Amino acid sequence: MKVLVYGAGQLARMMYLAGTPLGIDVQAVDVNSQAVVNPISKEPLNTTLEQAILAAESLTAEFEHVPEALLQQAHDSGKLRPGMQAILTGADRVREKALLEKLHIANSAHRIVTDIQQLDDVLSAIGADLIIKASRDGYDGYGQWRLRSQDELAELKLQLADLDLQAVPLVAEKRVEFEREVSLIGVRDTSGNVKFYPLAENLHHQGQLHVSVAPATDVTEALQRQAEDIFTSLANELDYVGVLAVEMFQVGSSLLVNEIAPRVHNSGHWTMQGSVTCQFENHLRAVTGLPLGDTRAIGPSAMINIIGCTSFSRQLLSIPGCHLHWYGKSVRKKRKMGHINVVGQTHKELGEALQKLAEFLPLEHFPKLISEAKRLQAIVLDN
Ligand code: AMP
Repeated sequence: MKVLVYGAGQLARMMYLAGTPLGIDVQAVDVNSQAVVNPISKEPLNTTLEQAILAAESLTAEFEHVPEALLQQAHDSGKLRPGMQAILTGADRVREKALLEKLHIANSAHRIVTDIQQLDDVLSAIGADLIIKASRDGYDGYGQWRLRSQDELAELKLQLADLDLQAVPLVAEKRVEFEREVSLIGVRDTSGNVKFYPLAENLHHQGQLHVSVAPATDVTEALQRQAEDIFTSLANELDYVGVLAVEMFQVGSSLLVNEIAPRVHNSGHWTMQGSVTCQFENHLRAVTGLPLGDTRAIGPSAMINIIGCTSFSRQLLSIPGCHLHWYGKSVRKKRKMGHINVVGQTHKELGEALQKLAEFLPLEHFPKLISEAKRLQAIVLDN
């Protein structure tokens, strides 16, 4: 059975690795060259895109910014899972906000900006403490601007002056004073059955995910249920098939959706060792019509992204429960090179393992590691 993934990065690679034991042959489309490649070696396979589409059981995407002509072709095959509407929604913050509003799902107060002069009205309506985001093609903090006060508005307008806001509007969001950021990774099959992983707590630095801990600490049943209800509402509306990630801000006992990702997600990488069935396998199961796998956590887990760095001691593998996932990419600043998964018996033990891990890593590239290790070590009782 073949599955064709649009995008040939690390997510396609990890789908390939998860598909192999199931006899699922994952092929990837390099969306720039339109070549069909092996997701590990990136070597072109002996097939055209059209032939690969015909031969595949289903088509899926590892990122939402698939060029529209390619997405349309995939949609026309009748095999694209999740469907085009879901992928387009994940790729466009204006569509995403419209969906959240339609479903009455809590999110940050916001306005859509199609002309720079509208910013004055935005400030009057939702205040001057704003995060302004390009509605398309932004990721990991790129395409975002911060406004702290009215005094900075003139300068911000200058910075935004060259953008074509008719073509790519901005979403101006009120900054949320959240306690923490969490995400729910879930999976929905072709019959509408859903399964959820436990909530993960996510630590960002400069707009980029650095550490996820799952199950997150201090999660009440009501909070997990709230997240699952949000997921189900979104997934049902989109008639979604596959893994969907919902990123949220926690404010008190309420969740506000920040964004959705219609794909396997970085904050779900912990599932590779920390759960009975990882997100990559479950995505493949869903899109090929196989029964969904058990999403229970095996133990408290942490996922630590390796960003913009290649030199560290592989001896970190001596830490019990520690696993390395290396993506085989050339290094660039802020580029995700791989990740480390650590699984413990308790959150406290996990914290101790992270403390040990810190001894093997250049800490300037891991700004969240020590504080998280300390926080977890202080947890006496797991919830
Ligand atoms: P995003 O690209 O929307 O995921 O934003 C990247 C990161 O910026 C988020 O993970 C948050 O840490 C922060 N952020 C984005 N939007 C907001 C907001 N409305 N209020 C506070 N922080 C935000």
